[in-house]
Amino acid sequence: MRRENYRDRAVVIRTHDFGEADRIIVLLTRSHGIVRSVAKGVRRAKSRFGSRLQLFVELDVSLYPGRTLATIAGADTLNYFASGIIEEYPRYTAACAALESAGRLAVVEQGEDPWLYDALVDTLGRIQVEAHPEVVLDAFLLQAMKHAGWAPSLFDCAQCNAPGPHHAFHPGAGGAVCLNCRPTGSAEIPAETLHLMWLLSGGHRESTASYLGKPEILAAAHRLTTAHLQWHLEQKLPSLKILDQG
Ligand SMILES: [Zn+2]
Repeated sequence: MRRENYRDRAVVIRTHDFGEADRIIVLLTRSHGIVRSVAKGVRRAKSRFGSRLQLFVELDVSLYPGRTLATIAGADTLNYFASGIIEEYPRYTAACAALESAGRLAVVEQGEDPWLYDALVDTLGRIQVEAHPEVVLDAFLLQAMKHAGWAPSLFDCAQCNAPGPHHAFHPGAGGAVCLNCRPTGSAEIPAETLHLMWLLSGGHRESTASYLGKPEILAAAHRLTTAHLQWHLEQKLPSLKILDQG
């Protein structure tokens, strides 16, 4: 086990008060994956860096490893995304969902690949300023699932590869499904929904403009993206419980 203290870039995923003055901070770090840590004394007024350990801030942290919890020895702010996000409810909910999903993905994938971290920081910056924070969130989730290797099929039938476009979707079947393959309980989806998701998944953001004025398509894309993510995360539930205890 690593015993020397180390520095890393990090985003706070969640926090819990602990004892009289401490706080448990779950961090997604750039190079060490998820790190569960304790910030001692941060709820006292004179704490040196307690105010920086909040959501929607990118930090440069110093950490001492421990048996179960690392200890935060210092933290400096690198990027502050909270202004804008904390004042507007749609931005706030999209940013919270991005943090929660990134935390779960990092636990499930158990990697120390900086891709997820960099994508999350980019996403927080976009959620802070862009006109459609929910679309920014969906693009992040779709790209993260693709990176993890379990993106939904969005054109060909996920079961028999028959070319689309198809009009039903089932997370357990792998995404888009044709009339022959669709399981009971498949979602009927408005036309164009899968095309929007395909554009977002591939990072073709400039091509999504024609969908931004169609709330029913945006809502359907968000519903399917979230359903696919949840279904796959729940298949790996034992590892998720570790984070939920924190
Ligand atoms: Zn099929």
